[in-house]
Amino acid sequence: MIELRTPTQIEQMRPAGRFVASVIGALAEKADVGVNLLELDELAHRMIKDAGAESCYIDYHPSFGAMPFGKVLCTSVNDAVLHGLPFDYTLQDGDLLSVDFAASVDGWVSDSALSVVVGTPRPEDVRLIEITQRALDAGINAARSGNRLGDISNAIGSVARAEGLKVNLQFGGHGVGRTMHGDPHVANDGQPGRGLKLRPGLVIAIEPWFLHTTDEIRFDPDGWTIRSADGSRGAHVEHTVAITDGDPIVLTARS
Ligand code: MG
Repeated sequence: MIELRTPTQIEQMRPAGRFVASVIGALAEKADVGVNLLELDELAHRMIKDAGAESCYIDYHPSFGAMPFGKVLCTSVNDAVLHGLPFDYTLQDGDLLSVDFAASVDGWVSDSALSVVVGTPRPEDVRLIEITQRALDAGINAARSGNRLGDISNAIGSVARAEGLKVNLQFGGHGVGRTMHGDPHVANDGQPGRGLKLRPGLVIAIEPWFLHTTDEIRFDPDGWTIRSADGSRGAHVEHTVAITDGDPIVLTARS
């Protein structure tokens, strides 16, 4: 079911967006060579407690997970790109790390993700992150009343295709509100002018993720961590965006 939020409700969603943005910012600052993924999860956990927020991940247990997630953060390193379950791993020079974080504040959820390279970056990783970020910006710019869902998808996919990247359509963005995942699904490629008509009050997470040389994925035995099928690296960025009768509001914008 598609739910539309009133302007008052969108204002009420801002604290969650600001909080999620602050956690993503703190994680990006802390992520460095020698830092363990479990330390990043602990940092996010501490920030949740201090803010009186609620994790969307810790008890999350959809059918594909072998067990409840048990952490408050997704950390996906190198060939892992989505849903990476934090484990005892110390970041190495040149690692490409994607963090994905969602939390609820005052009963409203926000969801955001960011990719960073720690230590000395490989130029191709910097490029992949830049393309993914550009695709997110294009998707946000298409998130306007009167456009259709396919315009967002096409804006994202066009950036990837122009750079020779293949787009996986199994996982994409989603509606955000009282819970983390709602309708509609926001695919990372599609036909312009097709699909749901966008109206003020629709709040969605837009989240392009691309792999260097494939669009095929495989799952770790834990059912969570998603990796490229060919071992190539991936990048993932995400914002929670409210469609208005004017410009879209990026609720998780980092200051
Ligand atoms: Mg997310």
